[in-house]
Amino acid sequence: MRLSGWGRYPILDCRLERLRRREDLPALLRRGGTLIARGNGRSYGDAALNPELTLAMPAMDRMQAFDAETGLLSCEAGVLLADILETFAPRGWFPPVIPGTKLVTVGGMIAADVHGKNHHRDGTFGAHVESLTLATADGEVRECSRRQHAGLFRATLGGMGLTGVILSARFRLRPIETAFILQETLAARSLDETMALFEASRGLPYSVAWIDCLARGAKLGRAVLMRGAFMERGALPPRLAADPLRLPPAGRLRVPVDAPSMLLNRASIGLFNGLYYRLARARAGTRPVHFEPFFFPLDRIEAWNRLYGRRGFVQYQCVLPKSESPAGIAALLERVAAAGQGSFLAVLKLFGPAGEGLLSFPMEGYTLALDFPVRNATPALLDALDAITHRHGGRVYLAKDARCAPQRVREGYAGLGGFEAARAAAAGAPPKFASALSRRLGL
Ligand SMILES: Cc1cc2nc3c(=O)[nH]c(=O)nc-3n(C[C@H](O)[C@H](O)[C@H](O)COP(=O)(O)OP(=O)(O)OC[C@H]3O[C@@H](n4cnc5c(N)ncnc54)[C@H](O)[C@@H]3O)c2cc1C
Repeated sequence: MRLSGWGRYPILDCRLERLRRREDLPALLRRGGTLIARGNGRSYGDAALNPELTLAMPAMDRMQAFDAETGLLSCEAGVLLADILETFAPRGWFPPVIPGTKLVTVGGMIAADVHGKNHHRDGTFGAHVESLTLATADGEVRECSRRQHAGLFRATLGGMGLTGVILSARFRLRPIETAFILQETLAARSLDETMALFEASRGLPYSVAWIDCLARGAKLGRAVLMRGAFMERGALPPRLAADPLRLPPAGRLRVPVDAPSMLLNRASIGLFNGLYYRLARARAGTRPVHFEPFFFPLDRIEAWNRLYGRRGFVQYQCVLPKSESPAGIAALLERVAAAGQGSFLAVLKLFGPAGEGLLSFPMEGYTLALDFPVRNATPALLDALDAITHRHGGRVYLAKDARCAPQRVREGYAGLGGFEAARAAAAGAPPKFASALSRRLGL
């Protein structure tokens, strides 16, 4: 079938099979050819696509055990983050790290070693995984942890499915007293101010900034920064205190058709960015916000990827080392503003130190994420952004990538040599586990 990631670019003809039972996996692995596991398809580009065989695991969605003393949860890799939240948040437990959508699987969160708004404090999701089970090319199932098959464990965190099929994982949830974040919204008039605000927010678990990516000159990098922490029960206003761990009301809006691409032009994006900035500034201040809109603002709009039109879109996300970030992020924003191809979504975030995943994306510094509709001029713009990222010692996020050149990835990921050695041991030669992404990048 025709399959794509969330960006709907590229779209490839893939043989898709659904793994109904874990026992069927050895036979699949013995078959010739390569395969890649697929979670919920929320990576943007070609990471979860393999024309030869793409393996979906919708039936592997069982939660296996939970220890209410320690918060340790064991579950299968196909469990959705949304289901973990629905089950455990009302009981006062919350995942330690979550990405900007809840529509991802545990396998996808491990394979991309996802980060959240608290990376500066808590690292990636992988940092909280105690162990995982992995089916490797020989059909064996290995339990991997920091003590057992440690090299394979490190290669699998952020390994984009290239070491094997993750079957299950154990990780620790954290106690929360309420479902509400005390969100503070602050406006910053320039990139310097935005970065100063991030530094000043280090003490809070969650922080993220939305950047007006068409602002130039003295206003370059102006942003609205949101930061916060889970509220304690006693701090809730009376209207929320009666049911402090409630789930939000259900209901989503849906984008019914592909938006015509002319809707996305410099004028509309400029209007949106300027309006968003002014609105957010007007709402500056502190208020309790349910965790759902705080963490997953886009999940309210089903199929929002259709807003970018028929040709799809790419998300460009890079990270630059801290010392290079002021100059490098400014150069990236200048290049984007000059191209006039601004993005609706431009998110800046401060990362803490890199973790243990050999191919994990985060490093200490700033990460910038931008969405661009696919147009004729887009590849040239993205190549120019790559050059800036490279010049400043950064790298792009493989879970978002659909077009980066192999050399850029080799130069950006220092752990690649170690990753390839660990992968060769588990994935066989030539590697059993491959994706359109790994082929494109020569991994
Ligand atoms: C709106 C939105 C916001 C996002 N925000 C963030 C964010 O804040 N931080 C962040 O880090 N990411 C973010 N992402 C990216 C997303 O979290 C990752 O791409 C994640 O991997 C998607 O999980 P999935 O289950 O959809 O996996 P898929 O997209 O299906 O697959 C992603 C990768 O995981 C591998 N994989 C999946 N399941 C398995 C398995 N069982 N065994 C082995 N490999 C497997 C695939 O092979 C592929 O390489 C966001 C994505 C969207 C759409």
